Amino acid sequence: MHLIRSRLFARHGFMGVFTTRLGGVSQPPVDSLNFAVQPFDSPEHVAENLALLKRTVPLPRDPLRTRQVHGVTMLSCHRASDPCQHEADALLTDEPDLPLAVQTADCLPILLADPGTGIVAAVHAGWRGTAGNILGRVAEHMLSLGAEAGCMLASMGPCIGPCCFGIDEGTAERLRGCAPDGNRAVRRDNDAWYVDLVALNRRQLLALGVQDSHIETLNTCTSCHPRLFFSHRRDRGRTGRHLAIVARLANP
Ligand SMILES: [Zn+2]
Repeated sequence: MHLIRSRLFARHGFMGVFTTRLGGVSQPPVDSLNFAVQPFDSPEHVAENLALLKRTVPLPRDPLRTRQVHGVTMLSCHRASDPCQHEADALLTDEPDLPLAVQTADCLPILLADPGTGIVAAVHAGWRGTAGNILGRVAEHMLSLGAEAGCMLASMGPCIGPCCFGIDEGTAERLRGCAPDGNRAVRRDNDAWYVDLVALNRRQLLALGVQDSHIETLNTCTSCHPRLFFSHRRDRGRTGRHLAIVARLANP
């Protein structure tokens, strides 16, 4: 199993993990560490992949997940929550040992943590979520609960890069306006526009006072690395889903 672990989070007593496609039991086209049953996998394979993950990462329990709909809604979670039927693209909790996860296959997964309050959040930001500033909304909510912008940590996982994420002019226009200096994250190449989701989401955090040195990015393109990552665009939808998981550990 090949995982990407956040060193930034580990240094502050949090767990931040991004899975790759390597190390699971699922069969093509979702080989092999896939975490979404629909539409190409079986519940048994996904459950086995989760069991394998739990043997590799000290997860205190199964991560809470929602039904993601490319919206900007966030869900506050507690130990007794069962959010799997809730439509939301971000999860947040202040409880220790309660892992939260979002699933992606090109969209940008972002994990947030605030050392002072212990609040953690997992955010799913594709172009729609980015255009709607879902990350800024979640971070602002954390600030309203007592988090400090100057201390907040962010880890951005694998997503489709500006090399491969072509969009139409209308989408480019919406994304230019979603962050300060947003036009610098959108590039035109003849009749196509290419967007840098990481740059836009980074700017949304910086605008709230989050320190640049507290934002960890991977800057690796899911579409460019078929051996390592699922990519919805590259594989025209016939692909699996990675997980991005965050938790505050009671005993790190
Ligand atoms: Zn690429």
